[in-house]
Amino acid sequence: MRFRNLTRRREIGANCYLLESGENRVVLDAGMHPKLAGYPATPDFGPLEDGAADAIFITHAHHDHIGSLPVLQRRQGRTPVLMTEVTGELSSAMLHNSVNVMTKQREEENIHEYPLFTHRELDDIRARWIYRDIEREFEVPDTGWKATMFDAGHILGSAGVLIREGGNTLFYTGDVNFEAQTICRAADFPTSGIDVMITETTRGDFARPEGYSRKGEKERLASVIRDTHEAGGAVLIPVFALGKTQEVMLMLHELHEEGLIPECPLFIGGLSTKITVLYDHYAGRSRRSYPGFRILEDIKMLTPRKRGRVELTANPRCIYALSSGMMTEHTLSNQFAWKFLDNPRNAVCFVGYTDPESPGYKVRTAKEGDMIKLARDLPAVPLRARVESFDLSAHATREQIADYVEKTRPRKLLLVHGEEPAQMWFTNRFRETIPDMEVIRPEMHQAIDLW
Ligand SMILES: [Zn+2]
Ligand SMILES: [Zn+2]
Repeated sequence: MRFRNLTRRREIGANCYLLESGENRVVLDAGMHPKLAGYPATPDFGPLEDGAADAIFITHAHHDHIGSLPVLQRRQGRTPVLMTEVTGELSSAMLHNSVNVMTKQREEENIHEYPLFTHRELDDIRARWIYRDIEREFEVPDTGWKATMFDAGHILGSAGVLIREGGNTLFYTGDVNFEAQTICRAADFPTSGIDVMITETTRGDFARPEGYSRKGEKERLASVIRDTHEAGGAVLIPVFALGKTQEVMLMLHELHEEGLIPECPLFIGGLSTKITVLYDHYAGRSRRSYPGFRILEDIKMLTPRKRGRVELTANPRCIYALSSGMMTEHTLSNQFAWKFLDNPRNAVCFVGYTDPESPGYKVRTAKEGDMIKLARDLPAVPLRARVESFDLSAHATREQIADYVEKTRPRKLLLVHGEEPAQMWFTNRFRETIPDMEVIRPEMHQAIDLW
């Protein structure tokens, strides 16, 4: 069995990996790079001939894991795509939204190849999506391999994939969280019998401060909301539409139930509502906390009227949980922030990762009074609002991933989905703790023998 990294750059980008053994070809994920545009944002499928793949696995419905799936499926016409049912339904909503975003970008930014796929194509390729339950072994079509998916605790439907070929076993973590969030429970991964592991390394460069607790972060968020409410301001929480929005909504509900924040209307944006409908649809049929709890109906702060189109100006004493989480140009949170940041009564609360090149990062690291350019077509605005950051990541800490690897002790470990310094932290740690394990940082297209 051989592994090839089809991601063009080694950082967090268009995740896509190829497994080859004899005539068999299996692809793990088919993402799109969040910061690039056009075909350079897709994986480089070079070593994979058209029509050669026996199966495609999708770990979860985030853009950096599914964004190029229709492009891949066009080249692999008859290949089945294996994933959990929740991931399939979420992927469909996310990819239809991508078509709309790309169509807009074609007009506004003159990216001629956009959209890379159409709504109609998405409806067609769904015929080859096959849903599998977690923790139930199944045959990988036309390969003689067996596979099992395990809950990854990252977003609803997310899974790690275990593949067995003969007496050898490989485990791909996908994006993982070993800690319970509000809705998602902690990952439930196998800890024995794994020869080769492919792991994400997102937070390898981040050390959690001493004394951290998720509860503490929640209470700190509550106090910012209380202060802002008292001052007559509004709170903006930039969030990803899928995963973080739903976690934050339920967290606010908890804080309100606990009497830690006052009653205040909560607004979310368009795609977030569609995704939340799916979270609610699977409320009773997925491994999660609050089984049966329906966010859109059971959260009192969120009245149906408040779910409508979000005005781009903030009303006092309201909370706006708007995507994107990094305040990417042309998104709701970016446009909203432009009219929001110059008001000293307001507060912006970051609850997830912001890429160093993103507008969100600029806001997060700016000082009061700094002029901030949020988008090319918008004049800079002075930062007067309060800005706070909270560690409520949907990714495991580096220590938790390292503990998992040390417990499982694979022969070979492949580091993916992380920046260079993040991967170096893991390399250095395992040199001490498991010196006989081979740690590999796969270059694009480099053939790596797994067994
Ligand atoms: Zn993810
Ligand atoms: Zn990811």
